[in-house]
Amino acid sequence: MNIQVLGAHNCERQNSKFISLLIDDVLAIDAGALTSSLSLEGQQKIKAILLTHQHYDHIKDIPTLAMNLFLSGATTRVYSISAVCDILARHLLNDELYPDFRQKPAPNPTVRFTIIEPHQAEQIEGYTVLAVPVNHSVPTVGYQVTSADGQAVFYAGDTGPGLADCWRHVSPQLLITEVTAPDKYKQWAANSGHLTPGLLKQELQSFREVNGYLPRVVAVHMNPALEEEIAAEIAAVAEALGGSITLGYEGMELSL
Ligand SMILES: [Zn+2]
Ligand SMILES: [Zn+2]
Repeated sequence: MNIQVLGAHNCERQNSKFISLLIDDVLAIDAGALTSSLSLEGQQKIKAILLTHQHYDHIKDIPTLAMNLFLSGATTRVYSISAVCDILARHLLNDELYPDFRQKPAPNPTVRFTIIEPHQAEQIEGYTVLAVPVNHSVPTVGYQVTSADGQAVFYAGDTGPGLADCWRHVSPQLLITEVTAPDKYKQWAANSGHLTPGLLKQELQSFREVNGYLPRVVAVHMNPALEEEIAAEIAAVAEALGGSITLGYEGMELSL
C-alpha cells in the first residue's frame, strides 16, 4: 500500500494545502487538495473518495474534481456518513453553487454518493474500509483502510480527545492523525474537537492500553503558522513514548 499525503494542513497557502490522502492512486480520503495536487490523468484514476466530515477544508475539491471528470467523461464515487452526503447535496452540488454532478450527465452521472454506516466494514475498490466515529464538532468518522494483503492504515479525520472506544475497533500499522495546534491551545482544542501534541500523547497511551502496541504515527492538519511549535512538542511526545511520530507534509509518501 502506497499512501501519498497530498495536503497536510488546516489552512491553504502557497506551500500548504488542505488535508487529502491518496492510497495506491485510486482511493482518496478527504478532498482538500485533489485537483491542485494531481494531473488530469491522476484525477481520472481516483475511483473512490472517503470523506470524514463536512467541514470545508475536507471537501473543497469535490466540485472541482467533478468538473474535470465530467469534462473528460470519467466518473468516481464519494463515500461518507449520511450527514455529509446530505450537506454536499444541499449546499455544494445543488445546481446553484455548482452543477449537480450527481445527476449529470444522465444516465451515468459523474459522481455517485454512497452512504457508509459506522462500524460496518465495506469492500471498496479491493480494500476493506471501516468507518469509526471520532470526537469532533460535527458528525465525523475516521477510516481504517486494509489492503488485500492485510496492511492497514487508520486516518482519524478531525478529532478531539476521548478515542478509547475508537481504538477498540482498529488495529493499524500506521496511524495518521490530526494535531492542529500546540499545547498552549489545549483548552481550545479539547473544546472544538481537535488535538495538540499533549492531547495526542494521552490518546496514544490509551491506544497502547487497548491494543498492546504503538503504531507508526504521522501527524497532519497542522496550522502552518504554528507548525514549528507543534513539531518541537511532537518530538518530545515521541521521545517520551518511545515511538515514531513525525509530521506529514505535502508530497510525503508512506508505504506499508
Ligand atoms: Zn473539521
Ligand atoms: Zn479540518
